[in-house]
Amino acid sequence: MVALAETEASSLRVREVSKSFPAPDDPFTRRQALSDISLSIAAGELVSLIGPSGCGKSTLLRLIAGLDFADSGDLLIGSEPISEPGAERGLVFQDPNLFPWLTVRRNIEAGLVARGVLREKRNEVDEFMRLVALEAFGDAYPHHLSGGMAQRVALARALINHPKVLLLDEPLGALDAFTRMRMQDEVLRLWQTRRTTILFVTHDIDEAIYMSDRIMIMTQPPGRIDQTIANTLPRPRDRSSPEFLRLRGNILELLHFAGNAPAANST
Ligand code: ADP
Ligand code: MG
Repeated sequence: MVALAETEASSLRVREVSKSFPAPDDPFTRRQALSDISLSIAAGELVSLIGPSGCGKSTLLRLIAGLDFADSGDLLIGSEPISEPGAERGLVFQDPNLFPWLTVRRNIEAGLVARGVLREKRNEVDEFMRLVALEAFGDAYPHHLSGGMAQRVALARALINHPKVLLLDEPLGALDAFTRMRMQDEVLRLWQTRRTTILFVTHDIDEAIYMSDRIMIMTQPPGRIDQTIANTLPRPRDRSSPEFLRLRGNILELLHFAGNAPAANST
């Protein structure tokens, strides 16, 4: 079990980051997607990011993943500036994006192949299949898997690289309500086993409250963090406790406000 103890979580810092894209209706002008956004996540923390559609959540995750560049501002993992994609930052999307022609085992190995370390790390694949409870499905193909199982493969594929920060972009958004709740527990179990830092984008307020240490609420575009709410409810959390429901009410109110606030800095 040496492999599972190997990861050290990292802190993540985003400082006054702005990002614009060419406007779809006029390619000669640019539209601001993120405006001076700043946030800070401690090593080992699980933080949710919620906000209206189009406020720039995925854009922010892509910048942290190193898949795109900011116009201005700094992004740091620990004290290292982010300049390109790196194995220490794992990314999982709503669509598990598995290779349909590869078995579960080969899909999980794909992360190692990409880094050229398959030979030395192959022995870890079994461990990670066990970690996501798919050890009996190593030879199955993605079309044999349920949505929840496929997403567990995607999580294992990201985790096998021992990411110091795990970036999850609505990873459970395509699952039915029951599978989704089971997978929330699964992600929490993985987080508690691995102690990796997690930035979790979700549309779902209950999911954010159930899972995270802190909840950051983004404004409508151009996105910045409007409010950060510490969530100190004891774990495991009870979705129907009065404290849970009170926090839910507060966040709904804030989101409603964020959704209706006049768009500041939108020029
Ligand atoms: P969210 O994930 O919060 O729904 P996104 O980050 O996907 O929002 O998008 C934020 C804004 O940036 C949207 O207006 C979107 O159209 C725009 N955008 C995102 N990526 C691109 C791109 N590659 N080219 C042009 N516009 C983009
Ligand atoms: Mg998105």
